[in-house]
Amino acid sequence: MNKLVAGNWKMHGLSADLSEVRAIAEQSRRYPAVDVALCVPAILIERAVRTAPGFAIGAQDVHQAPSGAHTGSVSAQMLRDAGARLTIVGHSERREFQRESDADVKAKAAAALGAGLDVILCVGESLKVRESGRAVETVVAQLDASLPVTVEGEAWLAIAYEPIWAIGTGKVPTNAEIGEMHAAIRARLVERFGPPGQAVRIVYGGSVKASNAAEIFGVADVDGALVGGASLKAADFIPIVAAAAVEGDAPIA
Ligand code: PEP
Repeated sequence: MNKLVAGNWKMHGLSADLSEVRAIAEQSRRYPAVDVALCVPAILIERAVRTAPGFAIGAQDVHQAPSGAHTGSVSAQMLRDAGARLTIVGHSERREFQRESDADVKAKAAAALGAGLDVILCVGESLKVRESGRAVETVVAQLDASLPVTVEGEAWLAIAYEPIWAIGTGKVPTNAEIGEMHAAIRARLVERFGPPGQAVRIVYGGSVKASNAAEIFGVADVDGALVGGASLKAADFIPIVAAAAVEGDAPIA
């Protein structure tokens, strides 16, 4: 399967930054064996889609209801209407600062998939949990409680394993730690969904950059990356896409 490399712009991006969206979209075309996407602030989605027609633009969150009295929120249908193809759900920053529970994340994932939006569902442990030796059981429990009931629709689901202590810190787990976690996530996906669980991509996120991407992509069961800081500029992001392409088709000259 194609590797997935998705950028998470978080709360970054003004009109002036659309030139980076354009550059990333254009340069990504050299790597057709990699699925590349950018998840931008909701207010930038429609302009990003117009700026880069055909390129996958996504959101960073979605509300679980189709419409209603939810001031400040955006539904899956609204995101599709704006041209978004995918959304992140359950990012640790939302789980922490917006107090989103596993049940919220599950409902958001189901609503998005049901509306035809592809989903990147994030899970990951804190440093305290990692140091206690309970990272795998904690993340698998979080995954279990956050997964939608089915993955058999038009839209795809991907899981992002993002250790909270690695996000924006420059710290990265060892290859063995990443491999152990991705294998555990894969096993649980297959247990839950049967053979379709094999097709769910599991991407790694947390301080991925050009200098460490190739090594991370070489770990078994790493099907791509969710990239924060290094996705803001084409010059930082495209080398990560290029690293993901190494196991796929040769880039187009
Ligand atoms: C993220 O927030 O999803 C992320 C992976 O951030 P960074 O790459 O900056 O660590």
